[in-house]
This record gives sequence, C-alpha cells and structure tokens, in this order.
Amino acid sequence: MAASTPMKKAAEQISGAWNSPRIAELRTVVTKWRKLPYSGAIILVIGTVVATLFIIALGRAVGPFPNPGLVYLPLVALLAYHWNWRYAVIATMLQLFCVYYFFISPPNTLKPLTPQSTAQLVTLAAVTGFVLAIVQLARFRRTMAEHAAERLTALNRIGTALVSELDETRLLHLIAETARDLTGAGFAAFTLRPINELGQPLVPSEGSLFYLAAVVGVTKEQEALFQRMPLGGEGLLAPIFRHGVPVRIADALAFVPRPEHTQAARLRAMSIETRDSARQAAFDYAHGLLAKEGLRSLGVPRGHPVVRSFLGAPLLDRNGNVRGGLLLGHSEPGRFTHDDEILLVGLAAEAAVALENARLYSSAQAQAQELDAIFESIADGITLVDDEGRILRENRTAHRLLKALENDAESTEELLRTAASHALNGEVEQSMPVTVVDAAKETREYLVSASPLRQPTAGSGPLPLKEQEVHGTSGSSKQRVSLTSSPQEIPSGAVVVWHDVTEAHRLLQEQQAHAETEARRAMLQTIIDELPSSVYLVRGRDARLVLANRATTEVWGASWAYGQPMSEFLATNGIRVFQVDGRPLAAAEFATRRAVQTGESVRHHQEIIVHRDGTTLPVLVNAVALDPLVLGWSSQDEANDNQGQPEPVAIVVHQDVTALKEAERLKDEFIGIAAHELRSPLAVVRGFAQMLIMQTKRGKGPELADWQMEAIQDIDQATNRLVELTEDLLDVTRLQAGRLELHIEPTDLGALVQRTVARFRVTTEQHRISVNATPEHIVIMADPRRIEQVLSNLMNNAIKYSPDGGNIDVSVREDQTDKAALLSVRDNGIGIPVQQQNRIFSRFMRADNAHAHNIGGTGLGLYLCRELVERHGGRIWFESAEGQGSTFFISLPLGQIE
Ligand code: ADP
Repeated sequence: MAASTPMKKAAEQISGAWNSPRIAELRTVVTKWRKLPYSGAIILVIGTVVATLFIIALGRAVGPFPNPGLVYLPLVALLAYHWNWRYAVIATMLQLFCVYYFFISPPNTLKPLTPQSTAQLVTLAAVTGFVLAIVQLARFRRTMAEHAAERLTALNRIGTALVSELDETRLLHLIAETARDLTGAGFAAFTLRPINELGQPLVPSEGSLFYLAAVVGVTKEQEALFQRMPLGGEGLLAPIFRHGVPVRIADALAFVPRPEHTQAARLRAMSIETRDSARQAAFDYAHGLLAKEGLRSLGVPRGHPVVRSFLGAPLLDRNGNVRGGLLLGHSEPGRFTHDDEILLVGLAAEAAVALENARLYSSAQAQAQELDAIFESIADGITLVDDEGRILRENRTAHRLLKALENDAESTEELLRTAASHALNGEVEQSMPVTVVDAAKETREYLVSASPLRQPTAGSGPLPLKEQEVHGTSGSSKQRVSLTSSPQEIPSGAVVVWHDVTEAHRLLQEQQAHAETEARRAMLQTIIDELPSSVYLVRGRDARLVLANRATTEVWGASWAYGQPMSEFLATNGIRVFQVDGRPLAAAEFATRRAVQTGESVRHHQEIIVHRDGTTLPVLVNAVALDPLVLGWSSQDEANDNQGQPEPVAIVVHQDVTALKEAERLKDEFIGIAAHELRSPLAVVRGFAQMLIMQTKRGKGPELADWQMEAIQDIDQATNRLVELTEDLLDVTRLQAGRLELHIEPTDLGALVQRTVARFRVTTEQHRISVNATPEHIVIMADPRRIEQVLSNLMNNAIKYSPDGGNIDVSVREDQTDKAALLSVRDNGIGIPVQQQNRIFSRFMRADNAHAHNIGGTGLGLYLCRELVERHGGRIWFESAEGQGSTFFISLPLGQIE
C-alpha cells in the first residue's frame, strides 16, 4: 500500500499533466500536423539525423556505444504507429545504413561486411522487425477499439433517437445513415410494408408491394425513382421480405447467370431464371436447405445503383411478421463482414422497435384526441375532481354550467360538492335529482351521478393512512360497507356527471298533452263520423280543412285532405256548386266561404253540389262562424294571419235534402194538377154566374130578388179570386219546372202603367191613385202581359195593405245612368216589419202584421213578381217602415232583351 501510493500519485500527476489544457492543446496541434502530407517524411529524416547525432555525441562523451541501433527503435515505432509501416520500413533501412556507415569500425566509410558486423546488423533488423510487429498489433488493436467505440457511439445515438425522435421518417433515415457509415456501405435503404392502425400488414409479403421509407447514399434522381416504384420480395430480397432472414452476399454479380453459347444452355438459364424457381431458391435458402450461391437473380430494378456487395436484414414486428427490410449495398465486392451482418440485424431490430413505438405513439395520440373530442362533445356535464375535491378537468357543458352558477354557492354545492364528497368516501351516487334555477331564472332539472376513481394500492399490505382515518371517523354504515368491500382500492378522485333532464321532462309532458289531445280528437272524430250529415271545420279566409266526418266525403264525392283550401279541393276534384235555380254559385257566395270571410253565420243556405261524374246533390248548408279563441287557438298560433289576428274558423253542416226536394217536387206537381183541374169547373161556375147576372140585367127570365142578385155577384167575385189563385199557383209550378215562357215584344211601359192604374182606380174609392210618367212613353222589350201582372200585384198589395185608404203614387221614369226604366209603387199602408223584410220575396211568405190586420193572401204574389222581373233581366226591391207605408221598385233594362 505504502509503495503503491507514491506510484499512484506519480501516475495521477502524469495523467494530470497529459490532460492539462496546454498539453491537450499541444496534442491537438500535433495531431493536426501529423495529418499534413510529408509530415511522416519530415519526421523520418529529422528523427534519423537527430538519433545519429545523438549517438555520435554520446560516443564522444561516454565512449563507444555497444548497441547504437537501439536508439533508432523509438523513431521506427513512432512512424509505424502514427504514420504507416512504409515510413517505418524506410526508417529501418536508414537505421541499418547509419549503423553500418557511422558506427561499425572503421566508422564513416564504406567497408566490406564482416561476419561480426553482419550478425550485428541482422540482430538489429530482427529486433526492429519485432518492434514493428508489436506496433502493428497495437495499431490493429487501436483501430479495433476505435471501431468498437464508433459503433457504440452510433448505437448510443440511435438509442437516444429512439426515445426522443417520434418522426418515423427522420428516425429511419438516421438508422440507415448509421448503418451505412458503420459498415462502409455505398447506400442504405429502408423498405416498409404498409400496415393499418393496429400494426397489421395491409398487403402480403409477396408481390413487390413494399414502399421506400428512407434511403441514403443515392442520387436525388435515383431516390425519386425508388419513391415511385413498389419494392419487395424478388431476387436477393426474397429471403428477407418473405421469410424474414438476413442475406449477405460478397459478390452479387456472381449470381447473374453468365451468357451461355449453346441454345440448350440458354434455355436452361432462362428456365432457372423463372420467377418460381427463384422463389423456391429463396425459400430453400431461408430454411437452410441451400447455400447462398444457390440464390438466383439480383431483383434490383432498372436505374438502381450497381450492387456487388449486398447485405440485408428484415424488420420483424412483435409477432415475427416481416415489417420491412434494411438493405445495404456497395459497388465493390466483399465489403460486408459477419460483424456488419450482426450489426445490421441489431439495427433492424431497433428500427422495428422504433417503428412500433412510433405507431403506438401516434395511435395513442389519435386515441387521446378521439377521447378528448368525445369528452368535450358529450351533452352531459362531466367533472373530474381530485381527492381534495378540486376540479381537475371538466368538459364544455360542465364548464358552462359551473360558470353560470358561479355566484350560486348553494346550487354548486348540491350539484358538485355533495356528490363528489360521497364518491370520495367510496359511495357510488346514482341519478340523484337536483333542481337548479339558473341565471336566466329558468328552472332546470339534473340527474347527478358520481363514482369514485379508484387507484390500486400495493396488494395485501396495511391500509393507507387516509383510509384508516376515514374508517375511524366515518359514522355511516354505508361508507363502511363500501370501503371494506374493496380493501385494495382507495378513491383518488371522483367523476361527477350531470344529466340535464329538463328537456326530457318537458318533452314527456308535451307528449302526454299531445296524447290526451289526440285521444279527445279521436273521440270527437268517432262521434262526428256517426252523424248522418256532413260536418266539417274550416280555418282561415281560404277555408282550409281542419276536421271532417265521414259523411263529408260522401257529400262532396271526394276526400278532402286536411289543410287543403276549399277552392283547391273543389278545383282538383272537378266539383261545382249551383244555386237552387240551376245558376252557378260564385265562390264568394258559398256558405262556407261567407262564414270565414265575413264572419257571418249563414243558415239554411240551399246549394246544389255537382260531382265530377255529373251526379247532383241538393244540400242545405249551415255555416256557423266560431270564435277561434274559444276553440283554444291563441293569437300566438302559427296559423295566424299577417296582422297576428287569430284566423277565422267556421263549422259547416251540409244536410242532404234530396228527399225534401223530391217531396217538394211532388207537392208542386200536385198543386199544378189540382190548379189545372180546378180551372174548368171554375170557368163553368164563373160563366154561369156571369150569364145569370147578364141575362137578368137584360130582362130575360124572371126577375131576381135583391138577395138573390147579391148572392150571384158574391159567387162571381169569389170565383174571380179563385181563378186568380189557380193562375198564380199554375205560374208557380211552371216557374219551378222551368216551363214559364215569356213573349217578348216592344212594350210601351208608360201606356201599360196608365192602363193598369185606370183599371184599379175603379175598384176603390178610399184610395187616391196618382201616376207620374216621364217621359210619357218608355219603350222596353218585355212580355206586356207579365209586366202588367207584376204591376197589378204591386197595385193590389198597395191597396190591400192600406186598409185605411190614402195616397198611392205610381211613377215610371228613365234612368239613363243605369240604362233602365224605373217603376215604383208607393203607399202609406201598414208597412212590413223589419225582421221579416229579408224573406218577403220567398214563397208563401206573409208578414205578421198582414195576419194581424186580417188581410187575406197567399204569399205567392211577391215571389212571382221577383221571378218574372228577374227573368226580364231586371231587379225588384222595396223600402218599408212598419205603420208608415212601403215603396216597391222595379228596374227593367232599356236595351234589347236576349
Ligand atoms: P199576399 O197574397 O199575402 O199579398 P204577396 O206575396 O203579394 O202575398 O205579399 C207577401 C206579403 O208581403 C204580404 O202578405 C204582406 O205581408 C207583405 N206586403 C206585400 N206588399 C205590401 C205592402 N204594400 N204593404 C205592406 N205589406 C206588404
């Protein structure tokens, strides 16, 4: 120990000095200088001169040197170690010459060699040779060490890159570069097999379907060429790509079949060259059945750099599948050693790991991104809290909700803290309902669930302190149970989930309400479907159908779709509507349309519906306008009109009156027949009564007593009235049957009026009848008999309904603006009560006051008047006030009557 300490100290000092900055600097300079050309030659010359002078000087000072050649040995060793053996050999020659010339006596002359001097020189040469051999060995060792260090550094570099570099291409490039540098290859390339996200190969290993992932040592053009072409398992590459074994070839050109001269040999070569045999050779080689010399064809594409030395190793994944290949090539033969092969296999293994890592990393990243996106897009609010209840993570929904409740500690407590603390105590909270009023004062309902995040602890060891504490302080049996049930786990945090059920509740309520409405509607539909009459509900000014019963389809002869406007429905189904007299009814006059457009309730409106097939149906329509608000259709309803007013609604009932019409027709027919049959006996009675009066007046036969004469006159008057009545009845039936004919001719209305008035003047004394005709003659085209019938009716009524007498003014004049003749009859009689005015032109219609005054009548006169006037293309109307009198007007067109 004592001896070794000073040695150790000395060694330390030397090493310190050797590594001191100055020396290190000097060493760098020397190293640099050593690399200069001629530095070896200079050292050789100067060294030899210095050594020779040193030996001469030493000889002079100390005496002749026994073995002067040894002094040269360090120089030879130096040259052999730092430069090369050629310099050392020259130095040895020089050294032998110097020893012979200067130090073998006689010195400084050329002399013949004696056996003694020869022995001396040979010994020196042998020693120098030995030194040289040792130095060469040291040199070789140094090179080996340097090489090993270099490989280690390179592998280290790759190892570092493997953990730090995630870019697959850069990594493969680095590995290829390292492989090339360490093996001295001309080029290095990585070809890979396409794989899916799970690392499974997408293509078979056969058929050149690999692609180039990285390449070094080729030109840009070559690289571009390789990028375009698929690479893979043919030729020398087949054992690598197909069977996953490395291939090392000293001279690939040796495998290319030499051109043969004979035809048979050429054919043989071609057949050997066939793909199948090459594949078989690759298989046999991979399974050790064939020496590498048996491999056929290079399998390099056109444009590939020349390959003579070839080394390739497969990239194998975890399952032993070939993932790709790392390929090295050199244009000279015999460049790759067994060590290179081992190195390449190692590098390929590292590359496989790197690729797998890169794939796992990118798939993990993709998964993380996917999960992130899912987490963020979940509609429920999700929050992760740590064991202290601090929020670690929250998704967008949760963030929004917590932000909205920032100032509402109570709600936050209910939503988050309570559930989280339960979960941290090991309980699983399931769908706890919580109601929260948010900042917009809206009530929202949540189902809160929370579950603990478990962290596994070391197996059966003692329970962690935290859990023990919880055990100690917990008062809840539930907590205890849950903790003891899984003693290996403690909650390291909790997940709280808020499921917003506000909308779901609302939807449920709406669905229930809707179902109820539907049920009520179905019931209503069932009820109205059973009604014999057509009943439907329309809405809006265009009368869109809302509800209809079964009979509606029968009445219209087509099915009316809900929401379809009436006009569209009629048009598409070719349905037309007529008045009772057969004239077309304008759309605006339909009872249904009037109810929704004017809001009036139209009752007992007679219409005749004509279906597409021509069948007709007389109907009695009642269209009642309803209040939309009463129906519960509020003003916010989507179907309101432009002003936001609720749309009008009407319920319409159509009654089929075919049977009634038939009865009416039969009645009219009966009346017609009866009236017709009455005519002849009446004519006989009237004829005989008038004959009796006339003959008696002429004095023929016995004179009659006064009472007899009065009786006969009464019979005459009564038969006259009966004749008029039967005529009226016949006219009515003719009108109903459309058989009333007009005999139109130019008629002087003025003269007609004068004549008629004159006839009436003689029948009454109570009334003063005046006529005003301007101009005196107004000629119109009309049936004079019928116009006289109309005027007579009006005159008759004016007299009849003025029981107290009074003025009756008849006027006839020309109205140039309307191109019409205007006739009026005014009386001061009993007038017509307002409530009956609108129906006074109907058949058999009589006002109440007529009955009250006991004035007889049939109610047919005005009906006939209107029909006759309208058939002349004219118009009849009146003005009347009860107790004051009435004025009836007739307007007849001046022009030609068609
Ligand atoms: P009638 O045979 O009853 O007169 P009309 O058809 O001529 O039948 O008249 C119908 C009803 O009109 C009458 O019953 C009467 O109530 C009323 N009326 C017609 N003309 C007048 C009038 N000038 N003054 C008052 N009421 C009248």
